[in-house]
Amino acid sequence: MGDLTGKTALVTGASRGIGRAIALRLGRDGARVAVHYGRDEAAAKEVVAAIGEDRAFAVRAELSAPDAPEVLIDEVASRFDGLDILVNNAAIGASSDLEHTTLEDFNQIFAVNVRSPFFIVQRALPLLRDGGRIINISSGVTRIAMPEIITYSLTKGAIDAFGHTLAEQLGERGITVNTVAPGVVETDNTAPMLAEPGAQEAWSARSALGRVGRPEDIADVVAFVASDDARWMTGDWIDVTGGSDL
Ligand code: NDP
Repeated sequence: MGDLTGKTALVTGASRGIGRAIALRLGRDGARVAVHYGRDEAAAKEVVAAIGEDRAFAVRAELSAPDAPEVLIDEVASRFDGLDILVNNAAIGASSDLEHTTLEDFNQIFAVNVRSPFFIVQRALPLLRDGGRIINISSGVTRIAMPEIITYSLTKGAIDAFGHTLAEQLGERGITVNTVAPGVVETDNTAPMLAEPGAQEAWSARSALGRVGRPEDIADVVAFVASDDARWMTGDWIDVTGGSDL
């Protein structure tokens, strides 16, 4: 287990799913954690309680709002004197193919999945300490074509480009930027899809390891990337799909 004692972390979308598992794992490794959420205050407070009220706090920001990055980073800056680890995890999905995607849907998903991490990083840069970490959560869909969620896939493609571009810019400050790409993981987001008859078996069969992912499968990789052990990795795209569609 990495030692993040003395480090501070902000995890977006940490009230549920993968973000929750990441926040809990970074907290277990010793970090102080800002637990961002959108709507589910009770769930965010549970995460804070699990880490410990003395080492974590919940912060709300609705990421589709243009001022969300400012609201979020101002609150984090008022609680931490610097930031060591920024995990851009929050995102929304959309089951919509090219023919059925409206302009409104398109703008909404880009606002949450691309615009908000972009401006969160911009706002966080003065707070982010040299030697820090930015970890963006992408998706296996930038490798595996899924036309039924085309707009979501495009947003994750933007996140991939964001990662290696930022890595080049921030290397001189010793800040590493890496992209972690999960495959299908059991969360509230995928629950309806996985509840369809035969879906668990079908999605499990696409992984070389024969099951769907759990939030902790992703959180453990993020914790490694956040740790000093990963100091020589930057601009990387890390496939954490359990060997899906190889
Ligand atoms: P969930 O839907 O389970 O959780 C999403 C989290 O993001 C919640 O904490 C939610 O907060 C927050 N969030 C969502 N929309 C907003 C918003 N508009 N404003 C503020 N907060 C928001 O997601 P997952 O855990 O499944 O996914 C996490 C990440 O992993 C995402 O980037 C996703 O694209 C990626 N991913 C997930 C996969 C999967 O199979 N689950 C596969 C590949 C990638 P709240 O509930 O408080 O509103």
